[in-house]
Amino acid sequence: MTITTIPHFFNGAEHPGTGTDTEGVFNPATGAQTGEVRLASPSDLDQAVAIAKEAAKSWGDVSLAKRTTILFKFRELVAAHVDELAALITAEHGKVLSDAKGEIGRGLEVIEFACGIPQLLKGEYSDQASTGIDVFSYRQPVGVVAGITPFNFPVMVPLWMAPMAIATGNTFILKPSGRVPSAAMLLAKLFKQAGLPDGVFQVLHGNREVVQGLLTHPDIDAISFVGSTPVAKLVHDTGTAHGKRVQALGGAKNHAIILPDADLDNAADHLAAAAFGSAGQRCMAISVAIAVGDAADALVAKVKDRAEAVRVADGTHPDAEMGPVITKAAQQKMRSIVTAAAESGADLVVDGREFTVPGQEDGYWFGPTVIDKVDFDMDAYQEEIFGPVLSVVRTETVEEAIELINSNPYGNGTAIFTSSGANARKFHRGVHVGMIGINVPVPVPVAYHSFGGWKDSLFGDKHIYGPEGVSFYTRAKVITERWPEPKQRTGASYNFPTN
Ligand code: NAD
Repeated sequence: MTITTIPHFFNGAEHPGTGTDTEGVFNPATGAQTGEVRLASPSDLDQAVAIAKEAAKSWGDVSLAKRTTILFKFRELVAAHVDELAALITAEHGKVLSDAKGEIGRGLEVIEFACGIPQLLKGEYSDQASTGIDVFSYRQPVGVVAGITPFNFPVMVPLWMAPMAIATGNTFILKPSGRVPSAAMLLAKLFKQAGLPDGVFQVLHGNREVVQGLLTHPDIDAISFVGSTPVAKLVHDTGTAHGKRVQALGGAKNHAIILPDADLDNAADHLAAAAFGSAGQRCMAISVAIAVGDAADALVAKVKDRAEAVRVADGTHPDAEMGPVITKAAQQKMRSIVTAAAESGADLVVDGREFTVPGQEDGYWFGPTVIDKVDFDMDAYQEEIFGPVLSVVRTETVEEAIELINSNPYGNGTAIFTSSGANARKFHRGVHVGMIGINVPVPVPVAYHSFGGWKDSLFGDKHIYGPEGVSFYTRAKVITERWPEPKQRTGASYNFPTN
């Protein structure tokens, strides 16, 4: 098989860069190498930042009318290339094509929200705040933004950032995950085709040294990061220490509570989809089910049936519901966590450790797995497994279940299945979590709300996209003005004015 070399995208064109190190790109369904990315050298990074800085001078001055024309066009182009983008996602990530199209749909929503930027940047005006004095405020771009993105959403997460940063007048450098670099390159070409000036959106491939270079570069003004918690914390700490505005979204361990009054068939359907969809590689996946009271045994039996029925296959297969996991290392880590849980006394209800797809035995397969009676000190409970593994724990009351969620270091997403409005209200008011579902297992906010977790799931103040995204990518200015006629002039006052 030919190995494609994936270049950077600088100043409106593909650019080979000067770096000599490469990182392999693999198809997780076959284990075969399909490409390589050239990792940026320090001079490549400097070049991309210099281009972005120069482009920011004019892009920040481009009228809102022109910006929205480009964003509308970009939206149409992304919509017209859904099949092509989805094929790139599936080839490098492994998720099934229908799910790849789903993530592009969520990305499109953010572009649509960004098309409304004139409304969002209207500012505020106070007439006659003091006699003859008006006060108004508006927001301006921060300048050059770098976006560092994870492997699990090669299109959606870059689209959580770039349309917002660009609509608000910034230039944007995307450092995608080296495991899934190709979709970012197509996005760059679509931005160019939409009429975006060269240098406003660029792609720079690289490893941790390149990220370090972005975090410390004096000409980068803001960093948007999405990835695992240890890296999110590092990105936040290093970026803010270097004077940058940083939002760093981290990992998760999302719990769903199932109360005995829930429709258990409905809950089991949704739990299975939330745990095994995208092979559990979603930051909003449910990885722990808390069965309350006597819901447990019936729930476990129903989830077992669903887990065994999931159609796991190459993501390009028309019937596939779940594809492989991202790497062999991830597969091996999942195996060892599940094995340790079983050896420590947990009940392995469905065991996906040795699952494989005939004819594609070198793929990184891991079947849906359900572990019941998981203890809180097991790695299966403690670790973000980031695979198709659902752990079941039990509590006696909804209050205990809420307490369990709150004792977890993460606070990204959570859900409750119940028919009791009172318990649902107690739950949403009581949990220390950013995104909450009530009979909705994966409550990813729509684009006109913002996305973000609490605690170790987000470092920084601002959630991503939506109104908080506008705020993150802009700085406020407040202007106090007076235009006195000569006869209205009063002398300067030496006390604090009160008129
Ligand atoms: P990751 O943290 O390994 O990588 C994320 C990005 O950081 C990549 O671009 C990678 O190249 C870079 N990177 C990796 N290690 C680095 C280091 N030591 N120094 C500097 N940069 C580094 O994450 P991943 O494995 O690609 O993605 C999965 C993780 O992302 C999971 O933990 C998942 O929960 C999380 N995630 C969170 C959200 C959210 O919204 N909170 C969304 C998607 C994924």
